[in-house]
Amino acid sequence: MYVKSLTLKGFKSFASATHMRLEPGITCIVGPNGSGKSNVVDALAWVMGEQGAKSLRGGKMEDVIFAGTSGRAPLGRAEVALTIDNTDGALPIDYTEVTIARTMFRNGGSEYAINGTPCRLLDVQELLSDSGIGREMHVIVGQGQLDTVLRATPEERRGFIEEAAGVLKHRKRKERALRKLETMEANLTRVHDLTGEIR
Ligand code: ATP
Repeated sequence: MYVKSLTLKGFKSFASATHMRLEPGITCIVGPNGSGKSNVVDALAWVMGEQGAKSLRGGKMEDVIFAGTSGRAPLGRAEVALTIDNTDGALPIDYTEVTIARTMFRNGGSEYAINGTPCRLLDVQELLSDSGIGREMHVIVGQGQLDTVLRATPEERRGFIEEAAGVLKHRKRKERALRKLETMEANLTRVHDLTGEIR
């Protein structure tokens, strides 16, 4: 499994559609300060479902949409598509190539698609987390983040390791199941109350 390509359109400084084809192995992005290198990494995190504006180095989520320059008007939407080579079947989906796309509109709406089929954020998260990648799996290490890990307490460091080992996905599923259970228990109590009243 490797990232085969990344396409950005209207994302941060990438106003025009920009397609990057990547090869297996190490890829280096070089360029002058402020030329958009970190924006490419932000796009990777964003398309994988990042929800935090701060993690994307912005104040609010709409900051990822091209804000305009002196010579170019702002755009109304940001689009990123990430294509992953899945010939080794690392992603639990029956395709040798998987394209995850995310679009965000200036009015706040966000859409996701997997291989052209609209889906939920949860579907993208589940698809990626099963393979150990995804926005919370520490596969993207931002500037300054190494410092955070080095200064972390042993408990915090254990959290990082657990997440990298794929424990997070199970914890999230457990949390969702517990929330459902709580709702069911509340419903059950209500049913008991009602049957008590009827008698
Ligand atoms: P450095 O080497 O200094 O870390 P970099 O190559 O990583 O720089 P980025 O931080 O990726 O550069 O890009 C910063 C540029 O992106 C700035 O010029 C900023 O104005 C531009 N930019 C960020 N968000 C937007 C946006 N929403 N619309 C237009 N331009 C944007």
